[in-house]
Amino acid sequence: MKQDSSEHQFAIRLMEHLVVPTFVLDPSGKVIIWNKACERLTNVMAREVIGTRDHWRAFYEEPRVCLADLVREGRMDAIEEHYSAASLKKDVYDGVRAENWCVMPCAEKRLYLAINCGPIFDDDGNMIAIVETLRDMTEQKRAEQALQSLAHKDGLTGLANRRSFDISLEADILHARRENEPLSLLLCDVDHFKGYNDGYGHQQGDECLKRIAETIGKQAYRANDLAARYGGEEFAMIIPNSDSEGAKRVAERIRQSIYDLNLEHKYNPGGQRVTISVGGISLVPDEKCEAAQIIERADQALYRAKQQGRNQVCIDPHP
Ligand code: GH3
Ligand code: MG
Ligand code: MG
Repeated sequence: MKQDSSEHQFAIRLMEHLVVPTFVLDPSGKVIIWNKACERLTNVMAREVIGTRDHWRAFYEEPRVCLADLVREGRMDAIEEHYSAASLKKDVYDGVRAENWCVMPCAEKRLYLAINCGPIFDDDGNMIAIVETLRDMTEQKRAEQALQSLAHKDGLTGLANRRSFDISLEADILHARRENEPLSLLLCDVDHFKGYNDGYGHQQGDECLKRIAETIGKQAYRANDLAARYGGEEFAMIIPNSDSEGAKRVAERIRQSIYDLNLEHKYNPGGQRVTISVGGISLVPDEKCEAAQIIERADQALYRAKQQGRNQVCIDPHP
């Protein structure tokens, strides 16, 4: 490439004013072009990075490779480890595409970027530049995440919905069986909730369910515990790697935390406040064990808790 040719100047000009955020590295990995759109996206000015290998600073807080570096070094196999999504074309000459959440330290906003990158060769096949173009996909990514969250969460309470409860329970049974570990399931049911609805109205009933859900959710202490809305006024908690002693402790904590909310319930014959009953089961799943049986046994324990006077916990087997 003739550095001073007017054609060369024209090419640089063109690239500088492209609306697509773009930067270019030379074969030694130094930035040679950082266009205006890239300045706008990153809030890092061309004069700050041109001639340096500091392009990563525009995207990340800690030094790390960018897609252009990996393409320059021919390290295609390292792309997946550095990016949340990547699609490799069959030939590096065609370029690569990847996506990542970037911290954008100078722009002070996290962005989800779609990144395209490809090398440029001269007539003799020497790599003369690596071009990286960026596209801000943050809004699309957030919309996609919101949709996913809608699919997994209960609309009223924000807890995991029945579908994600079912999926988690299946996965946790398989895991417990493989590891020969105990698994516990709790089912919680609001006491005399029909009376609450009839007395205070359905809308206040909904508000009450939200408070209950929030309180139960807070009792899922460990990362793998899952609190879910199982049905109308029934909630569930899956507690992996927990025996019946552990299940009883969590169940008792849940029951007490709802009691302590002290939500008025004049129509609860057992007291003046909202209470729940909790039934639980703890077991080490064997080959024949199925989710439906576990739920059935937790439901029977819940039934016993109701029979014994409500606002209580009943665990199978009794610890
Ligand atoms: P028990 O102590 O035996 O559980 O008595 P209960 O009245 O709570 O039991 P039942 O199953 O007869 O009634 C559950 C009631 O929960 C029925 C319905 O009015 C209410 N419910 C179920 N889902 C919702 C909901 O999403 N919102 C509101 N507000 N109420 C609901
Ligand atoms: Mg019920
Ligand atoms: Mg009930």
